[in-house]
Parts: sequence; structure tokens; C-alpha cells
Amino acid sequence: MDVDGTLLTEDGAVPGAAAVVTALRRRGIPFRIVTNITRRSRQSVVDRLGAHGIEVQTDEIYTAVYAAVAWLRNRAIRRVAPFVTQDVVQDLQEFDLIGGTATPSVRQSTPDAVLIGDLGDHWSHGLLNEAFRYVMDGAELVALQRGRYWLGPTGLELDAGAYVAALEYATGHNAVVCGKPNAEFFDAAVASLADADYPTIRRSDDFSIGPIAMVGDDVWSDIQGAQQAGLEGWLVRTGKFREDVLAASGVTPDGVLDSVASLC
Ligand SMILES: [Mg+2]
Repeated sequence: MDVDGTLLTEDGAVPGAAAVVTALRRRGIPFRIVTNITRRSRQSVVDRLGAHGIEVQTDEIYTAVYAAVAWLRNRAIRRVAPFVTQDVVQDLQEFDLIGGTATPSVRQSTPDAVLIGDLGDHWSHGLLNEAFRYVMDGAELVALQRGRYWLGPTGLELDAGAYVAALEYATGHNAVVCGKPNAEFFDAAVASLADADYPTIRRSDDFSIGPIAMVGDDVWSDIQGAQQAGLEGWLVRTGKFREDVLAASGVTPDGVLDSVASLC
């Protein structure tokens, strides 16, 4: 399940969302929370859901930041220039942070990777230009996600993808996208289900999970991405959902739900 627009909106929890999580646990149906939230740490996501009565644990949460950390770690990249919020910088402490939004900001050396998140109003020409120069000097362009927009408190808001696209355009380099719709990200969440301790699932050597549905409000990141990763994509009519966007997308969800509450 996705978080923003699916379990939560700016008005609070989607009605019935907490009951769905409770029902899934009661029925022994394993689940993971898979979110492209780029402004919060994993623990911060747990706290935010908990504040709305949705009880989840840290190891049930897969964020784009978590995926990016794994991606950088797997490639032995040490020097990272973060362009993310201070909350997310907390999840990056294992790296040597250079420039960007790191504090204190060290600029003596050149980063091996530039990590782009969602800075909202905190983006500036200076920050974008700094990221641009690092990439031109050889740093890998790594994006937490490339969402087009999300539904904010006053309407639709530009998401990180718009800034990632600007850097791709200027540098001529394609970004590596760590969050949804990257199949590696879905795969990691699915793999963790196999280790989960759910009482109603019989454990055996030929244990396999399926079918699995990704439930979210983003036609591309949630639905198309999940389908390309071999999962089903179930679209909810909450959050950023728009009938005209779905019709023009060319994406056919495996299911369309009025809201996540329709799951139980
Ligand atoms: Mg969403």
C-alpha cells in the first residue's frame, strides 16, 4: 500500500484506512507500506501513520530513501551530495555528505553521487545549479523518485520528478530512480514478505507468495510500476486520482477501488 493519497490525505486518514490495516493483520494477509515519501525518515512515517491511528512498524515501511541507501551501499558509493530535507538527511548518516542540504556542509571534495529528493519551497536556482555542476563533473544522478505531482493542502504540487527532469535535460544524463516505479524497489518489499511471520501462511520450502497487489493513487508510480514489476496494480479513487488522467494514461489498472477501505 501507498501512503499519501491512499492511507492518508492532507485532511487526515482516509476513512477506513486504520480498519483495513487491522483487518489485514487479523486475516493474516501480509502487507508492506511502499511509499515515495521523500521528506521523511522511516521512523517519521511510522509516527505520522500512528498519529492517525494506523499502527505499523518500521520494518513494514519501504521508503524511497531506504531504497536509495541500499542502492548507494550496494555500489560502494561513499561521497554523496544530498538535496533532501533535514529529516531525510538523518537516514544518510553512513555516507560522507558533501554540499547540498547537508549540515555541516563540506565542499572540499567532489561527490560520487547527487541524491535528489523533494525540497518543495526550499528549492532554489543555487541548489539546482550546485547539483547540475556535480553531475557535469561526473557524479551519478540519483533520484529518490520522479513523481510528477501530488495533492497538497492547497491543490496539486510539483513533485521531485520535475526537478529531476530539469537536471536530466541540462546534463544530458538519465537519473537512476530508486523509489517507485523502480522494479528493484517493489522486489525488495516483496522479498521481505517471504520472511514475515504470518500465522495463516503455511511455511514450507516451496513457499511462494501470490498474487500481490500494489494499492495506490498514482497511475504511473504505483500502478504501471507495479505491473511492470510483475504485481497487480489496484488504483484508488482518493488522493490525486483524476478520471481524465487515468483515461489519458494508457494504463489499465487490475482493479479500481473507491478507496483503500474497499479492501475489507
Ligand atoms: Mg500516493
